[in-house]
Amino acid sequence: MAQSILFLAHVSEAGGTLPKAAHEVLGAALKLKEQTGSRLTIGLIGENVEPAAETIAGCSAERILGVTGPDVATARYASDAAAAEALCRAAAADLILAPATSRFMRVLAGVAHRLNGCVDTHVTSLDVVNVELCATRWYYRQRIEGVIRRDGRPWIVLLESGCSAAWAGVAARATIEKIPVTLPEAARRTVVTGIRAPKSDAQTIRPDAGLLFVAGAGWTKKQADGKPHVDQAETLILDFLRASGASLGGSKSLVDQSGESQAVLRFMTHLNQVGQTGSTPRHPKGLSTCCHGEEPHVVGWRFINERRAVNLDPNCGWARGKADVLYVADAFEVMAKLNALLLEKSHPKLEPAAQLA
Ligand SMILES: Cc1cc2nc3c(=O)[nH]c(=O)nc-3n(C[C@H](O)[C@H](O)[C@H](O)COP(=O)(O)OP(=O)(O)OC[C@H]3O[C@@H](n4cnc5c(N)ncnc54)[C@H](O)[C@@H]3O)c2cc1C
Repeated sequence: MAQSILFLAHVSEAGGTLPKAAHEVLGAALKLKEQTGSRLTIGLIGENVEPAAETIAGCSAERILGVTGPDVATARYASDAAAAEALCRAAAADLILAPATSRFMRVLAGVAHRLNGCVDTHVTSLDVVNVELCATRWYYRQRIEGVIRRDGRPWIVLLESGCSAAWAGVAARATIEKIPVTLPEAARRTVVTGIRAPKSDAQTIRPDAGLLFVAGAGWTKKQADGKPHVDQAETLILDFLRASGASLGGSKSLVDQSGESQAVLRFMTHLNQVGQTGSTPRHPKGLSTCCHGEEPHVVGWRFINERRAVNLDPNCGWARGKADVLYVADAFEVMAKLNALLLEKSHPKLEPAAQLA
């Protein structure tokens, strides 16, 4: 059982804020604190952590620790590991909870080793069962759920996003205890010289979106007139993503096409692939279009709560119990209609009275 919990987070490199995933981990840490009567410490890493600390200072943490300054402004293994290690030692926590961001996924296993502790990644929940702390995570592409108990301490746990309710209290004044970290020159060798990111239009993967929109290979197949309509498919999908704010997923067949010199949707990459050899995103709702709903694809829908699909084939995989609702229809027509409705919603036609005014 934990006596002392450290909630460990880094602020974003761009705005110095805490991502939603960090607020979720704080929510989980506070729940455990209540269950176990432990002390809670906050540990923050970033160039300037004050604004972020103020947003969460209203929670009932005993201390707020920070490793700050230009050395930890950007992700770098050597400085991040030193900062996290210093915070863990200063907090003397036996349980350390952190969001599973790419920055932390790279360093916290190494930190656990330095602390002579243990670490678990991809954890989806933490609970007290028979006075023992238990973590759960999924194995074999989300088909088997494992429950982990550990004797080793400190225990570092990286929690997946979308699994806990985010803490949402009011901001308060924060008193931050700065933890000094002296980096050897060798730890400063790697320098971030710039960031190359795709145009914001092309950023189609949005983990916080309420809807996952999935496109399958059908979008590029010959349609009723005997021809493919890839340009039209691109426009329909991009218009929908813009209007709805949905995140974009793809089936393996569709994302593989670019490597096979077939007609492709240009914004679709392997990062969008959902399924057994792809990702398992978490969204409240999912809409699949022109995708057959084969098991290796659908296993990636494990954490989509409400599933709908559009397919011309009434015998597709979705019809066999994999979707809550299947629309047997032409996805080109459905999406065109949906886009028109979304456009109308964002620019409602003026009522006659309003027109007169
Ligand atoms: C070991 C292994 C791992 C795999 N891992 C993955 C994975 O991670 N992710 C994954 O996606 N797949 C994976 N697959 C492949 C998977 O089994 C399927 O082959 C793939 O998902 C099928 O993709 P699809 O449905 O897009 O294409 P298709 O099977 O070609 O289906 C296209 C569908 O589009 C429909 N359609 C066509 N035109 C229209 C229209 N106008 N309106 C509506 N519907 C239309 C058709 O009726 C058809 O059902 C894996 C396979 C194996 C063997």
